[in-house]
Amino acid sequence: MPFVITDPCIGTKDAACVDVCPVDCIHPRKDEPEFETASTLYIHPEECIDCGACVPACPVAAIYDSVDSTPASQQALIEANAIYRPGDAESFAQAEALVKSHIEAHPELMDVDPAERAAAHAE
Ligand code: SF4
Ligand code: SF4
Repeated sequence: MPFVITDPCIGTKDAACVDVCPVDCIHPRKDEPEFETASTLYIHPEECIDCGACVPACPVAAIYDSVDSTPASQQALIEANAIYRPGDAESFAQAEALVKSHIEAHPELMDVDPAERAAAHAE
């Protein structure tokens, strides 16, 4: 069961998780062209080995340890993580469209500072 990046990454996107991932399954990296325009980073669900290293590295608690533990409000982000493939423009566009729909559907979360957003997931 893969780890999932959720909406506190939007507006943070510092790539701290990328630096600790042992299998390079979090993208886009800072050296990849999609990084500049990506709204968030994504975890490849089949490459993630569930090591957990990314969770304490994330300064805004954006990463959940499974799809099942990810709050229902983050469903679009679960799908976006699953769709995106680095270097594939079509999957990038699809993932970003899902993130955009999430932003539009959850103004109450977007109004919260990214550092406090994970706490708001439970509300
Ligand atoms: S759980 Fe481990 S393998 Fe999966 S994204 Fe996080 S650091 Fe990478
Ligand atoms: S460490 Fe957290 S905020 Fe930073 S890029 Fe990774 S998931 Fe996003």
